[in-house]
Amino acid sequence: ALSIGIVGLPNVGKSTLFNALNGGGAEAANYPFCTIDPNVGIVPVPDRRIDELAKIVNPQAIQHAVVEFVDIAGLVAGASSGEGLGNKFLANIRECAAIAHVVRCFEDENVTHVAGKVDPISDIEIIDTELMLKDMETVQKANIRVEKLTKTGDKDARAQLELQQRVLKALEDGTPVRRQGLSDDEKKKLRELWLLTDKPVLYVTNVDDGSLPDGNAYVEKVREYAAQEGARVAVVSAQIESELVEMDADSRDEFLADLGLAEPGLNTVIREAYTLLDLISYFTAGVKEVRAWTIHRGDTAPKAAAVIHNDFEKGFIRAETIAYEDFVTLGGEAKAKEAGKMRLEGKEYIVKDGDVMHFRFNV
Ligand code: GDP
Repeated sequence: ALSIGIVGLPNVGKSTLFNALNGGGAEAANYPFCTIDPNVGIVPVPDRRIDELAKIVNPQAIQHAVVEFVDIAGLVAGASSGEGLGNKFLANIRECAAIAHVVRCFEDENVTHVAGKVDPISDIEIIDTELMLKDMETVQKANIRVEKLTKTGDKDARAQLELQQRVLKALEDGTPVRRQGLSDDEKKKLRELWLLTDKPVLYVTNVDDGSLPDGNAYVEKVREYAAQEGARVAVVSAQIESELVEMDADSRDEFLADLGLAEPGLNTVIREAYTLLDLISYFTAGVKEVRAWTIHRGDTAPKAAAVIHNDFEKGFIRAETIAYEDFVTLGGEAKAKEAGKMRLEGKEYIVKDGDVMHFRFNV
């Protein structure tokens, strides 16, 4: 499964955030593929569109898309050299498709800061240094392999070696792979190395409640830093989130209003994570169930159908498709169809986020 690894220095609020993400635990436990690994959380993706669809269709059940978070605790300075359980954690990160980097942007003299003071950029760099040291090791090993190939006169090997040497040099100069300005093609050529600092990052700034909803001076620093690599920044208070998940709906709404928030900060984190993984949702809207299905951006209709069932892809004929906006503003499938808003899409159709779909297939 595609997962997001939660990383950050000790005591920045990772566990608090992770537990809050799983605070919808009861709901998450309904998912059959829910794992029992305590470090993995299957988290429903908040999506108001499902409620809007349900209002129209009145289904017996609704099902959100889910995204998987992995709590990668124990990453400390020295991890790359195998200090503590460091290497195991780095291996866990390798398996994640993207990273949520939690950064401490709150002051609290009761909570020890491992580096002695709150300094988000320095914190980010400590973690990145460990990841870069590991990447250097990986590239060095790969260079030895590729160098052997160049001796056989392999032209591609020569180009590959040059690329890897350039990447290694930049890592040695302190630049994570994702900040090296590599082209898509170059990134593709490095894919098999599973480099840690090549993964897309979402910076999650953990602030005190007084800094909600927009952040504080620390968050500004993180925003500037993130902008240099085109990364996004989410602002949350892990502590507040952990309180919010314990509340009933009414108290929660009241508390949110007091804080000036339209919704829990976690919702943003989850949605940003989903986007970071390059995932989108299409919907099926039947009386039995209104459901969001997860696909990759750019997937064709048959590929999307396969998420429901392999047979749907094999026997794919066409997809009756209504854009979410049309479905909702016109008041459902029949009316959308009447208004000429139901499209019959074929095998080449690239599914859009929010499409309401019904697949026709041969068995
Ligand atoms: P981790 O080591 O990164 O997993 O950090 P934890 O989630 O265990 O949090 C470390 C300490 O910071 C705990 O005592 C938390 O209660 C506290 N903490 C976490 N988030 C916040 C926050 O938003 N504000 C404040 N003041 N304390 C927090």
